[in-house]
Amino acid sequence: MSGATVVVSSVSRRFTSGEMRIAAVDDVSLEIEAGTVVALSGPSGSGKSTLLHLIGAIDLPDEGSITVDDVDVTALSRGRLARYRSRIGFVFQRYHLIPTLSVLDNVLAPVLPYRVDFDAPARAMDLLAAVGLEGRERALPSQLSGGQQQRVAIARALIAHPRLLLADEPTGNLDSKTGAEILDLLESLRTRHPMTIVIATHEQHVAARCDRLVRMRDGQVVSDLAITPESADLLVEAVELRT
Ligand code: ADP
Ligand code: MG
Repeated sequence: MSGATVVVSSVSRRFTSGEMRIAAVDDVSLEIEAGTVVALSGPSGSGKSTLLHLIGAIDLPDEGSITVDDVDVTALSRGRLARYRSRIGFVFQRYHLIPTLSVLDNVLAPVLPYRVDFDAPARAMDLLAAVGLEGRERALPSQLSGGQQQRVAIARALIAHPRLLLADEPTGNLDSKTGAEILDLLESLRTRHPMTIVIATHEQHVAARCDRLVRMRDGQVVSDLAITPESADLLVEAVELRT
């Protein structure tokens, strides 16, 4: 168990807005090895979120295919699609917690429609303890700080034992210290829950902690680098991830 293998093959996704046809993702191919942490960077509008949505089967490509552990997620029936999505962890920049639900119920929400083969409330309590929120299970999201809300969102993302975690600018709304703590948390959780992680980010300090940096521009992959301890320092100093 080391996480999912993701293969993106010649994937395109186009949107029409008014007269304009935009290739949000334009013929992207990418192989992600099980257990790696990939930073997806590039300027705003370069297609990062669209690509994450396609991998998570929240959206469908116009062309190409995406396999996750040899399952073609672009060709799943509706029932299987819902099941697939429920097994993918998704973390968003703005947390997307349900304001009227307690912290505990937010973490449980993804598995509520399903019968699961584990004790979901016990796992939710464990995960909340792992993200440092023991004792806050009954709180409402509005009673928590941004960093704490993102911790709840991470616990929620992990409830169904995902082999793949997709995070869309998870530290984008947080100050750099809190952002670093969220990254520490993901790193420590990964030792307990092996998974493949794709993080969209344009923060150097986030990318420097990943295994690989994929940069996008205008819907295309423009560079793809392995990150080593040596190159991580260079990256922090030299690479402008917004361009
Ligand atoms: P990023 O996450 O890198 O900022 P996005 O994937 O959100 O980029 O967007 C890529 C491009 O696709 C942008 O030009 C954006 O305006 C466009 N786009 C994304 N989603 C939609 C949509 N639902 N309808 C129309 N255009 C969209
Ligand atoms: Mg985005």
